[in-house]
Amino acid sequence: MWVDTHCHLDAGEFGDRSASLADEAAQAGVRVIVIPAVARVNFAEVAQLAHRVGNAVYALGIHPLYVPTASEADLAVLRAAVGSAMADPLFVGIGEIGLDFFVPALKEAPLREKQEFFFAEQLKLAREFDLPVLLHVRRSQDIILKHLRRIRVPGGIAHAFNGSFQQAQTFIELGLHLGFGGAMTFPRSLQIRRLAAELPLSSIVLETDAPDISPAWRHPDINTPDQIPRIGEVLAGLRSLALQEIAAATSANARAALPRLATSGVGL
Ligand SMILES: [Zn+2]
Repeated sequence: MWVDTHCHLDAGEFGDRSASLADEAAQAGVRVIVIPAVARVNFAEVAQLAHRVGNAVYALGIHPLYVPTASEADLAVLRAAVGSAMADPLFVGIGEIGLDFFVPALKEAPLREKQEFFFAEQLKLAREFDLPVLLHVRRSQDIILKHLRRIRVPGGIAHAFNGSFQQAQTFIELGLHLGFGGAMTFPRSLQIRRLAAELPLSSIVLETDAPDISPAWRHPDINTPDQIPRIGEVLAGLRSLALQEIAAATSANARAALPRLATSGVGL
């Protein structure tokens, strides 16, 4: 079996195909799809979608690209939503949260400070509810690590990982797993492919980030969660391991990163 640890299955790009895409993924062996929320407006949507399909779970959080339009009241809404979701077996963590310093306006005051405030507040929420986090880390590795050292959370995943070996090592020491997906399938992604080949296998989980980050064979079309086994094949090739070994290891790693998966009833 396979796990897609990061898929925006509720994204508008999918129109009304979300449920059938989850089905196609299940038929391809993807037994678990993790759907992160991005803003208050899709909290209910990701939860409902996870319940509608047989092979998905969800996380709740405010994505850094949605922080500019978010208000502090949204953090209170998130807190309440997390509080009630704790009784829902399909709820697995806090996400997608993080920092994005790629977009120029988000790198400067006051949005930089606003992002850091929302990120820190959501880390505290994860710590309070003892939940893992799904992290968006874009041109912000070291600042994310600084916050993670200060506010210790019980693990999670740095999604679409694209840092140095030293940064990877620090994430791992802080209990995080690292997500690899479509970027790894491009021969020119030398650094990401080297990380995927050489980091401890126990630290790696797979993801599509669908509809984004299409693998090389899909580019520039949109990405879908049924691509996970083929992305896994690329990882198997990079590490000279059997496909089954990659499937078993990355699925076990996903369960370690997201402990609530064990009692979700999904992917068993
Ligand atoms: Zn995402």
